[in-house]
Amino acid sequence: MAQRIQGTEDLYGGYMRSWQRMCDIARELFGAYGFDAIETPAIEQVATFTHGIGESTDVVRKEMFRVFSGALLEDVFARGSEEGLKAKQRMAMRPEGTAGVVRAAVEHNFVPQGAAPAKVWYSEAMFRGERPQRGRLRQFHQVGVEWLGAEDPAADAETIIMLMEFYKRLGLPQESLTLRINSMGDGECRPAYREKVRQFILDHADEMCEDCRERADLNPLRAFDCKVDRDREIMRDAPLVTDNLCDDCRDHYAQVKKYLDEAGIKYIEDPTLVRGLDYYMRTVFEVEYTANAGIGAIGGGGRYDGLAELEGGKHTPGIGFAVGFERIMLALEDAGVNLAGEDPSCVYVANTEPELREAAFRATLALRSAGIRAEADYQGRSLKSQFKQADKHNARLCVVLGPDEVAAGVATVRDMGTHEQVQVPMADLAAKVSELLG
Ligand code: AMP
Repeated sequence: MAQRIQGTEDLYGGYMRSWQRMCDIARELFGAYGFDAIETPAIEQVATFTHGIGESTDVVRKEMFRVFSGALLEDVFARGSEEGLKAKQRMAMRPEGTAGVVRAAVEHNFVPQGAAPAKVWYSEAMFRGERPQRGRLRQFHQVGVEWLGAEDPAADAETIIMLMEFYKRLGLPQESLTLRINSMGDGECRPAYREKVRQFILDHADEMCEDCRERADLNPLRAFDCKVDRDREIMRDAPLVTDNLCDDCRDHYAQVKKYLDEAGIKYIEDPTLVRGLDYYMRTVFEVEYTANAGIGAIGGGGRYDGLAELEGGKHTPGIGFAVGFERIMLALEDAGVNLAGEDPSCVYVANTEPELREAAFRATLALRSAGIRAEADYQGRSLKSQFKQADKHNARLCVVLGPDEVAAGVATVRDMGTHEQVQVPMADLAAKVSELLG
């Protein structure tokens, strides 16, 4: 039997409705904040990701799915050259949304000189070659926003406020969430800070894990995220970014916090919060579902003022976030919240004889034309089994067409809850059904 790839999921039934509901809430909320929807391709040039996310990050080094066409592989095998394959590793599946959006913004000049910022949101599948486990998939779904062309700390605060409002509208209790924020500095102050952390790791190299020793040169700040307890303990004494910010970054961070305070947003300042992608600078934030330790981060983001330049554009500041649908579903389940809502109800059209199918067909179309969700039976089942089907379809009403009814130009409408029945002229069927549905 064919099976899906481990770490991927089929979205259907209530799970699919939850995803759609999440997207509806996003459209409504983000729309009110002035964000328009965008969709960028699921495959991009490898360079789009390596330039922005960074060659040295786990996402690019270990997790990005590279894509080859069959023709390319045939060509490479025919020439027997592995080198050719490497040289042509030009396409990758997107592991995250920001790099593609910024690439699009550069390509289509979303933020012309002196123009108002561009604000976009997306809901897309992302792909990462991770070891699959609960809440960690190879294909997962994110809803995210990008606000391009705004440098002011008010944009950082608004973005975070909107994120917290999003969780609220999804039904997550605010007390189950922990928002952590930090500033990662900018091109002015970060290089010197990075060097201090590198030196710190080198000074403790013989006590630290191999990954961290490797990180010292590649991506030293990631050592703060090391999973090894001993390393984490050592990193507690490492220099903190907040003690190493330049004046501009410190002012920016202070202003963001002031706005958040003013809006009544609760947060924890975490100077060890470093997000895994190279493009972040200044404000970074992460939200964790803390009511149950097994779920972890359900969203995060930050400012990426240098990214547009890395994608070959002019300087365009930006800030955004992404939330993970599958993790949010785990959190909602834990919190006892059903995002999908009730199964949609319908009106079921039953007929007692195969000759009455045409009448059933017409009645069903009439109901649908009036905007009523309707289902009909064309299998020739018994009336009893059609009532069972009606229940399965969560029907509140069942329209029953028998030979006498059809001959008399009427239909019987049965309330599936109370089993009460009324006869309705066919011509008034849709209007009467709408009235009964209330
Ligand atoms: P990131 O882009 O890594 O900051 O991810 C943003 C959010 O996406 C996280 O907070 C998670 O909720 C979710 N996420 C990231 N990676 C995965 C994954 N492999 N599987 C499921 N959700 C993920």
